[in-house]
Amino acid sequence: MSIQKFSPVTEEHLGDFHITTKEEVLEAAQRARKAAPGWAAIPLERRLKHLDKLRKLIIEEGEEIAREISKDTGKPIVDSLMTELMSVPLFLEYYQKEAPDILKTQKVKTPILFPGKSSYIQHYPMGVIAIISPWNFPFQLAMVPLLSALIAGNAVILKPSEVTPLTGMLMKNLMDRINLPKDVCQILMGDGSTGAALTEADVDKIFFTGSVATGKKVMAAAAKKPIPVELELGGKDAFIVCHDAPLERTVKGALWGGLINCGQMCVSVERIFVVESIYDTFVDKLKEEIQKLTIGAPEEQCDIGPMTFPSQIKVVEQHLADALEKGAKITHGGKKITDRPGLFFEPTIIEDVKPGMLIYDEETFGPVLPIIKVRNEHQALKMANDHQYGLTGSVWTSDHKRGLEIASKMECGQAMVNDVVLAVGNPALPFGGVKSSGFGRYHGKEGLLGFTHQKSIMVDRAILSDEPFWFPYAGKLPHMTKIFKSLLKGKMLGAVTELVKIRRKK
Ligand code: NAD
Repeated sequence: MSIQKFSPVTEEHLGDFHITTKEEVLEAAQRARKAAPGWAAIPLERRLKHLDKLRKLIIEEGEEIAREISKDTGKPIVDSLMTELMSVPLFLEYYQKEAPDILKTQKVKTPILFPGKSSYIQHYPMGVIAIISPWNFPFQLAMVPLLSALIAGNAVILKPSEVTPLTGMLMKNLMDRINLPKDVCQILMGDGSTGAALTEADVDKIFFTGSVATGKKVMAAAAKKPIPVELELGGKDAFIVCHDAPLERTVKGALWGGLINCGQMCVSVERIFVVESIYDTFVDKLKEEIQKLTIGAPEEQCDIGPMTFPSQIKVVEQHLADALEKGAKITHGGKKITDRPGLFFEPTIIEDVKPGMLIYDEETFGPVLPIIKVRNEHQALKMANDHQYGLTGSVWTSDHKRGLEIASKMECGQAMVNDVVLAVGNPALPFGGVKSSGFGRYHGKEGLLGFTHQKSIMVDRAILSDEPFWFPYAGKLPHMTKIFKSLLKGKMLGAVTELVKIRRKK
């Protein structure tokens, strides 16, 4: 059995790839377990320096790497370069600056009641991290958690998606070239069976990015041990167009946010709520602009490429058919392109979308802009939040203050005002979802701490013979009662006086 890869552009066979067996996965986990302490013992600055080789490789060979990702996914080379590759050196650079501060031992306050003591918080590597990644951004969504886990001092096993094995091999090759200590970073090609084996192997955390259905299986496997799991799942992101939205930017934002990567993006715009007073103007402009988009293969330098694999087209067709049956109207596009080979689908606008339709309730993951007319922003916000998903969202208005207020009320992990998608590329902003979109955060400070265990340490420097709270209790109750009351009333002096009395009584 092997993975067979076909081009999304030409549908030709591109190669066969090994499916790592369960036995091989378990062996890899054992090797990672042995390698982990050595990597953790290397000082952070040296770990960062080692990983910097990758940053330099990506800068030098960026265009070539981007072409390979585009061959695998079908996405425009501009997308591979800017949304896949770019973020990896940017994240490395960010962590080179910030990681020493984020991971350093931190001294925290100790109550005055604990005289002679100091308190610290330390972060130490978890051990072996399993990363399971999807096909839609196969490079970035694997490499950012992988590098974060390595920087935090863990050994890593990555299982890339079977849909994009060329990128899996590309990442393996790049990581091999930077010569990390043996078995610190292992990339295992394979399908769902390999992923399932990895969740059962001897690992200390599972970082999963993919569908809700698989996420539930991963969480169930993690619960058996139990070990921590982070789930980065789907989305149905809301895009709220207020009455005073800056029209041209809003229309272009909706097109890019909904159609980039052919709409196959967890943070894709999947529900556009338009206030009725601006509805016709907005939709007319959207229709005018969508016609200007070009569709084609990566090498053709078009705006929109093919979808990445055939079953995704079926999901889009099913959602559109269901919506039409329930009263929606396709007002642009709506069909697979059949006059050329490849998995090309017309960029689509569908109006009169409402709850109860698959295209409203479920993640579509295709080049479709579903539009919902609303009375006002309150209704838009209510509908945006009344949904199973909560990954990202955006609000479009000329009033920044009101935009920020609405963004603050959106139930999601990241919200933008007059912008779309981009926040995910800011290495300082934590990323992750709420509700069915998952939990846990990566990127930013949380993105490193999430791959560490936290340890609290208290040190007694006074080294007295005992403590006032220790045995024996005889005769201490009146003093303790006073200490209790003084403390709760914020009267520290009273508490300290009683402590001194206890000590003198000895
Ligand atoms: P998927 O769930 O089908 O597969 C994801 C990965 O899980 C693949 O590597 C697959 O081989 C592996 N897998 C399959 N069965 C498994 C099992 N039983 N145990 C362990 N691993 C298993 O998802 P997909 O189709 O590759 O990705 C698309 C989904 O990912 C969409 O829902 C999208 O929204 C979501 N996504 C989320 C984010 C995010 O950051 N929140 C980012 C990108 C994609």
